[in-house]
Amino acid sequence: MKVEISKHSGFCFGVVNAIEIAEKALKNSNGIFSLGDIVHNGAEIERLKELGLTTITREEYFKLNNCQVLIRAHGEPPETYEYAKANNITLIDATCPVVLKLQKRVKKSHMEGIQDNGQVIILGKKGHAEVVGLVGQTGNSAIVIESEEDIETIDFSCPVTIYSQTTYPLDKFKSLSKKIKARADDGVQVTSRDTVCRQVANRVPQLKNFAAKFDLVLFVSGKKSSNGRFLYQECENINPNTKFISTMEELDKNWFANVQSVGICGATSTPQWLMEKVANWISENF
Ligand code: SF4
Repeated sequence: MKVEISKHSGFCFGVVNAIEIAEKALKNSNGIFSLGDIVHNGAEIERLKELGLTTITREEYFKLNNCQVLIRAHGEPPETYEYAKANNITLIDATCPVVLKLQKRVKKSHMEGIQDNGQVIILGKKGHAEVVGLVGQTGNSAIVIESEEDIETIDFSCPVTIYSQTTYPLDKFKSLSKKIKARADDGVQVTSRDTVCRQVANRVPQLKNFAAKFDLVLFVSGKKSSNGRFLYQECENINPNTKFISTMEELDKNWFANVQSVGICGATSTPQWLMEKVANWISENF
């Protein structure tokens, strides 16, 4: 049986960076809280939990004091930092540098647009942690556009600056930006800033090529990862014999009947060690 792990799967730079920061901080502490899951992958969260990282919700965060809290790669709105300052919480900031830069740009656009009723638009998923962090830079005034239906919430008589969540699909960003520009009143300025992170966007064509090469594709990802669901769909479109698994227990021996080659790939939140575990299981069993 031929088994190959995709070179274009696994943690993106921002997540690797956040986990390294967490592991380093955990060595010198009795336990740290993580504001939200550090990565959308249950197996990796379990591993870090054993090292002392406990995931908390936003509601839980706003009841804490005198402790250490890690901010994950998605970033946080200003209110999180303000609360920490007022409640003696030491923040370990693992915000991805790419997200941090985007937050600054969004804030700048908001400040510059205040006088002319400028609107900051974020193309992204409503309620997603990164989007909450971005909207927070604008005093919660930014408009989040998830799909075409949301475009009507924009005031087309006022200037618009469009940004994207870093993991927003690139083609969707381009088509929605075009539609927003077409709807704007004559003479109204619409600026579109493509802030899609290429760490994720570039993976689509790479994964499609990979998925096409095998009899069976195992897509390994946490169920909560939106990037995982999106990339899985792309693989399945190319190779209908693609299976989504989150844990080793979900592997089914029946899938391997009449199969000569297996490709293993995953999302930006899939740990390398988990894909390797899957590969080893196949080699041992077939
Ligand atoms: S996808 Fe890009 S912006 Fe988002 S955490 Fe990863 S490297 Fe950072």
